[in-house]
Amino acid sequence: MTARVLVVDDILSNVKLLEAKLTAEYFEVVSAFNGIDALARIEEHTPDIVLLDVMMPGMDGFEVCKRIKQNPKTAHVPVVMVTALDQPSDRVAGLDAGADDFLTKPVDDAALFARVRSLVRLKMMTDELRMRETTGQSMGLLDPTDQLQDANPSGRVLIIEDRPESVAWFSGALQPTHEISSVDTFEEALVRVKGGDFDLIIVSLGMRGFDGLRLCSQLRSIPEARNVPILVVVSDGDRRKLTQALEMGVNDYLTRPVDRNELVARVRTQLRKKRYADRLRRNVQLSLEMAITDQLTGLHNRRYMTSHLDNLMAQAARAGKPLAFVIMDIDYFKSVNDTHGHDIGDEVLREFAKRIGANIRGIDLACRYGGEEFVVVMPETDAGFAYAVAERLRKSIETTPFPISRAPAKLNLTISIGIASSEGLSDTADALLHRADQALYSAKRTGRNKVVADAA
Ligand code: GH3
Ligand code: MG
Ligand code: MG
Repeated sequence: MTARVLVVDDILSNVKLLEAKLTAEYFEVVSAFNGIDALARIEEHTPDIVLLDVMMPGMDGFEVCKRIKQNPKTAHVPVVMVTALDQPSDRVAGLDAGADDFLTKPVDDAALFARVRSLVRLKMMTDELRMRETTGQSMGLLDPTDQLQDANPSGRVLIIEDRPESVAWFSGALQPTHEISSVDTFEEALVRVKGGDFDLIIVSLGMRGFDGLRLCSQLRSIPEARNVPILVVVSDGDRRKLTQALEMGVNDYLTRPVDRNELVARVRTQLRKKRYADRLRRNVQLSLEMAITDQLTGLHNRRYMTSHLDNLMAQAARAGKPLAFVIMDIDYFKSVNDTHGHDIGDEVLREFAKRIGANIRGIDLACRYGGEEFVVVMPETDAGFAYAVAERLRKSIETTPFPISRAPAKLNLTISIGIASSEGLSDTADALLHRADQALYSAKRTGRNKVVADAA
């Protein structure tokens, strides 16, 4: 894994030392010698992680960290405070400023690499989502202002620990802000995680009955827990376990004896990060949906239909099954707009889309092909069956007037329909579309309000 590390320290020899260690491990290093410098570098070099000295003249590390985390452009970059201070209260001050972790000077190599790698790995997962969200925004699919962040989120926390006094202590520290559940066996832990909608899982690595590390590795392979952060609790000095846990992909850790405020602060950080990642995932999903959906009717759009049609045809050809293609066009729709206005025209289009939806099966693919043209792709359907469906729809449009929100309250409309069938492996989407279009044209030319199947 290569990553760019920004090292910030006012003492040149400290910078040089960290630089040498990191470069030897193939990290790319950028350095800064004071807070102002660091803030400029972070925007200019977009590092994957910042190692930040606390005590610096001018702006101290806490303030630099706060500013990194307040800037939407840099808030996602993990910050590790490198400090000679080693009191829980200092750590809590750092966590409150938004820091992701701490290293104590003189910095131990194994701890340094384990933490940098773990934080960079976790960051890369959200980077991918951030990139897609940015694309969604630049395509105009998402609102960039929709970035509300709860500074003090509360969450559903599962504690996995088999020593009752420890469970009681953790619960006491986290309630009532968080909703706490606990389990004390391996099997029950797996069941609860699969069934529960947790925001954070705390795993003790000092249990009597079973190995917490083995459990963590199992949890990481459960789909339901993939996006749930894991916080482990290790005994002070058990560096081997801690390194293994970080390599396994746990998100954060606490060392015993656990400081209450540090626990609260680390839980808060993990919940914030999860909320952020959840939001990114939701937005990516939303922009995917919007990119393939017609905004007026909610049906699939033409782009989606044409890119999917090839697959559907290939699938049908391979399976030796028929596939029907139905194209529908409202007769004299222009006069609806001309007579009643464009907004009423839109109402008619929405109602038409609804009626199409009500007349097809789940496996049929309905989309708005263009202005007042709609298409339904029907897998496993021969021309005869498609004709029956089309005829039923045509008749129901003819006999059931369209309700509209202005006088005359109802409109009598008719539609024309063209049908074509796929013709095996050599057929193409373009050719199929063309044949359906020809059939529709023929329906229009020979009087409208009728269904015509392609003769081929
Ligand atoms: P034909 O019977 O031959 O199909 O005639 P037509 O009037 O239905 O067809 P034509 O292609 O001449 O006109 C289609 C009209 O559909 C023209 C266009 O303004 C209108 N239209 C296209 N998209 C929309 C839309 O999103 N909303 C509304 N209200 N009208 C639309
Ligand atoms: Mg200093
Ligand atoms: Mg028309």
